[in-house]
Amino acid sequence: MTPTSPTSPSAAFEELYGHAPEGVWVAPGRVNLIGEHTDYNDGFVLPIALPQAVRAYARRRADGVLRLASTRVPGQVVELDVAGLAPGGVQGWAAYPAAVVWTLREAGHGIGGADVLLDSDVPGGAGLSSSAALECAVAITYNDLYELGLEAAELALIAQRAENDFVGVPCGIMDQMASMACTAGTALHLDTRDLSARYVPLDLAGSGLTLLVLDTRVQHDLADGAYAALRAGCERAAALLGLPALRDLAAADLPAALDRLPAELVPLVRHVVTENGRVEQTMRELEQHGPATLGPILTAGHASLRDDYRTSCPETDLAVAVAVAAGALGARMTGGGFGGSVIALTRTADADAVAKAVTEAFLAEGWAEPHVYRAVPSAGARRES
Ligand code: ADP
Ligand code: MG
Repeated sequence: MTPTSPTSPSAAFEELYGHAPEGVWVAPGRVNLIGEHTDYNDGFVLPIALPQAVRAYARRRADGVLRLASTRVPGQVVELDVAGLAPGGVQGWAAYPAAVVWTLREAGHGIGGADVLLDSDVPGGAGLSSSAALECAVAITYNDLYELGLEAAELALIAQRAENDFVGVPCGIMDQMASMACTAGTALHLDTRDLSARYVPLDLAGSGLTLLVLDTRVQHDLADGAYAALRAGCERAAALLGLPALRDLAAADLPAALDRLPAELVPLVRHVVTENGRVEQTMRELEQHGPATLGPILTAGHASLRDDYRTSCPETDLAVAVAVAAGALGARMTGGGFGGSVIALTRTADADAVAKAVTEAFLAEGWAEPHVYRAVPSAGARRES
């Protein structure tokens, strides 16, 4: 018996577990328009949720056993004792859902077991936040199965803590808040210090625009220490400057602050401060002119990631350069970096040509063909049935 042998995930659930699911909960992946590596500096981000999402088919169990399966991992059912969950105790993909259950329990919520089958069309390791989508799908599932009554922001914090403390990736709050709290047709302006949210309408189609997502298929591994080192560098810089976080460094004070820092921290701080500025600039543009004028801000954001933060890679740099040369209004890597996806804002009439140019450039390099999606601002996590 495997999770993928029957036709629908619901039927697969029944075949795996011997009973029907109690419900289906869905949580989307995301792309971040601008505001990269700002969330663990108490700064600003501007993500949209994608139509691609993780669905959790689930039924509550009374015996404290958590059974986990994924249509992406055929033939495997991971069986865990909820009371015995501990960081380091679950390896591989099952660590993500188990982490959420552990975190809920650690936070004092009276939860127990469940049968869960995950089904997803968010590509993993592509910078589109399949991990947060998975965590948030499990978090809302448990919120309903055990009638916890938690709000979106509380569930996002649970999911982030799960990834930080159980999986071991010291991510900020953007991905989980995007997956939980985005709404269709808008971008979410989030102040990651207090989680205050503003929703800005983003009518791409009505503006004659397309937001391409070009998955370079270079899989990143954020658990490998590079991300943690960047975060630690930012925290050290804030401490040296006597600030609670780099968010508290005003753009006007940046030159003087850079003079006081060791050379290796200068580009990190410059990126974070200018990137927060680009989020605010993007908001002003969106409110005054709509999305058509955002291109140069996106491309400037990529240059900052490439030259200062050094989280881009040859594949993302080439995708951005070729997209812009082929007529994109602007382009940048999105997500944590070291591979993953590039977003390119194009006039809709130019979208196919831009995607084709990037694809041809990759093939000419002997690289795998990028996967191309069109991002539509979509709804956040919710119960589906
Ligand atoms: P990203 O969040 O950018 O997609 P991450 O490395 O943070 O990349 O998370 C990817 C990991 O999440 C995968 O390696 C896998 O362990 C887990 N994952 C994502 N989607 C699924 C799925 N549908 N089924 C099982 N595991 C998944
Ligand atoms: Mg992730």
